[in-house]
Amino acid sequence: MQGLMMNTQLTITTIMQHAKNHNPNVEIVSVTGDNPRHRTTYKQAFERAGQLANALAKLGVQSGDRVATLAWNDYRHFEAYYGVSCSGLVLHTINPRLFPEQIAYIVNHAEDQWLMIDAMFWPLAEKLAPELKGLKGFIVMTDKAHMPETSLDNVHCYEELIAGESSEFDWPELDEQAACALCYTSGTTGNPKGVLYSHRSTTLHAMAECLPDAMGLSASDAILPVVPMFHVNAWGIPYAAPMVGAKLVFPGPKMGDGEALQDLIESENVTLAAGVPTVWLGLLNYLRESGKRVDCLERTVVGGSACPIAIMKAFKEEYDVDTLHAWGMTEMSPIGTMNVPLPKHDELSGDDYWALKAKQGRAVYGVEMKIVDDENKELPHDGKAFGALKVRGPWVCSSYYKLPDADAHDADGWFGTGDVSTIDPDGYMQITDRTKDVIKSGGEWISSIELENIAMGHPDVAEAAVIAVAHPKWDERPLLVVVKKEGAEPSKQDLLDYFDGKIATWWKPNDVAFVDEIPHTATGKIQKLALRQQFEGYQLPE
Ligand code: AMP
Repeated sequence: MQGLMMNTQLTITTIMQHAKNHNPNVEIVSVTGDNPRHRTTYKQAFERAGQLANALAKLGVQSGDRVATLAWNDYRHFEAYYGVSCSGLVLHTINPRLFPEQIAYIVNHAEDQWLMIDAMFWPLAEKLAPELKGLKGFIVMTDKAHMPETSLDNVHCYEELIAGESSEFDWPELDEQAACALCYTSGTTGNPKGVLYSHRSTTLHAMAECLPDAMGLSASDAILPVVPMFHVNAWGIPYAAPMVGAKLVFPGPKMGDGEALQDLIESENVTLAAGVPTVWLGLLNYLRESGKRVDCLERTVVGGSACPIAIMKAFKEEYDVDTLHAWGMTEMSPIGTMNVPLPKHDELSGDDYWALKAKQGRAVYGVEMKIVDDENKELPHDGKAFGALKVRGPWVCSSYYKLPDADAHDADGWFGTGDVSTIDPDGYMQITDRTKDVIKSGGEWISSIELENIAMGHPDVAEAAVIAVAHPKWDERPLLVVVKKEGAEPSKQDLLDYFDGKIATWWKPNDVAFVDEIPHTATGKIQKLALRQQFEGYQLPE
């Protein structure tokens, strides 16, 4: 027997319409390349999304066509999120930090028709244009006064293009399974792989993100997504915020600028900010140097890489800001787990409290999660057994775009995340490594992430990475690679002694290597592969 409820399609058009009707005057504040503080509202932004949809239709786009963006977080990018996707097109967000050859590969693989681009990235467009075979033209996301000079054909100015258009658009009734957005993973090997989100997956993910034990979003929040809109849709925040009527504060090109972030947080009363650990390291450094504060900030969501305890502690103890540690991936839209304590944790204090916070958290409703051994046999949730982490759910990708052979799914439809983790009896998952990065010493695994986390707590360490180095007896042993804090001169022994009592003795790194810089991927993760290559053949001391 079927239920007798309306079969309303879960599309992001419904988010737009809901916000237009119920949260019209909630503000969207942006820093842009052409305006240090732009203010608009959901009503105005969605009207302009209608203008953009009309303009795109006149350019001849057809349902399902891909329209790419190469842009920072701001109100025009937000308008594109809805103007493109709600008119039945697919918004393909591209990471401008990728190598130009990778960008060209992605645009061609996705068969993008138009590229919407921030004026500051224009030199990249000039360089790439001859490689972009199927592209019909560019839309520069600025006004007439800030348009770059160009000899390329078919280049439109965003503000000029939408200026004469009606804000009314006949938004199509889309199937909820229709594609709405496309994002390529920035893998460290091989070509990037496309993850094609549907309206349904995006809407469900946004709803789950708002739940109290997820990000707990509400109309009382002002949210600063410092995670880029080109990286897994800024973790879904541009969809979740209008759903609940939260104010949005977009940092534009000021992503990594501690001073600008502090100013935005304080002047716009930001209550929640989201980003990768390095962003918060930058903000914390600025706060300490300047003596400034972020008193309105209640919580930060930190993910993308393991959040060092030192960052969470500094936020809590020096600035009274709670950190929500989260884990996810491009293939998961991205949220998989969030770390929010349970009532039984009220009594936790000291190291026990921080040991809990270091975990990546419990599965959000919608995400099924398990760990398995090499034979795909499920491992116990005892907080000790580590295994390959697999997931399933309505916002987990079922295959990669136009790459049927690149599948990472098993016969039962579980997606192999490529992460290794434990899960404790309360369901808190803790990532110990990427599968490719675990250190295998005498047949046992050592978690590089846990060692990095400890090293990051040393007062003289600016950044730390732990990699496997070949060892004649144990196969592999850990090497600690450290960037020293400016002015600090720790000895190798100092740093090694710091591990005493914090881990099993056989986990202790065999040596320390000091470097000026640790290489990062385009999304800010430590490039372990590059580091392993750098230290190939490294001789560990006896
Ligand atoms: P991406 O698709 O670029 O967002 O990368 C996803 C990968 O980032 C995951 O598979 C993890 O390896 C890593 N990751 C994301 N969040 C965390 C976290 N909180 N702790 C450790 N690793 C993380």
